[in-house]
Amino acid sequence: MYDDYECETCDKRFRTQPAANQHMDDTGHWEPQFECETCDKRFRTQPAADQHMDDTGHWEPQFECETCDKRFRTQPAANQHMNAVNHHKQHHWPRL
Ligand SMILES: [Zn+2]
Ligand SMILES: [Zn+2]
Ligand SMILES: [Zn+2]
Repeated sequence: MYDDYECETCDKRFRTQPAANQHMDDTGHWEPQFECETCDKRFRTQPAADQHMDDTGHWEPQFECETCDKRFRTQPAANQHMNAVNHHKQHHWPRL
């Protein structure tokens, strides 16, 4: 009746947190916590998620051209695009 520690993946319950952890270690039942930002894949560790994103190129583009809607993964790539097509915004450009 004191089986208060639950495996996050299956419905098994345990009396102690270490017992639950042990089960999760043994069965690989840890709930994946780290999500690819692009697809719906989930991973148990941040490095595994990073690795997937590296492998698949799934990093979410974070840097946006301020003039058109293109998006880039890095600020230099965005800057390069803006230089190349010469469409930096006319108003104050924030210094990096
Ligand atoms: Zn389990
Ligand atoms: Zn992905
Ligand atoms: Zn642009």
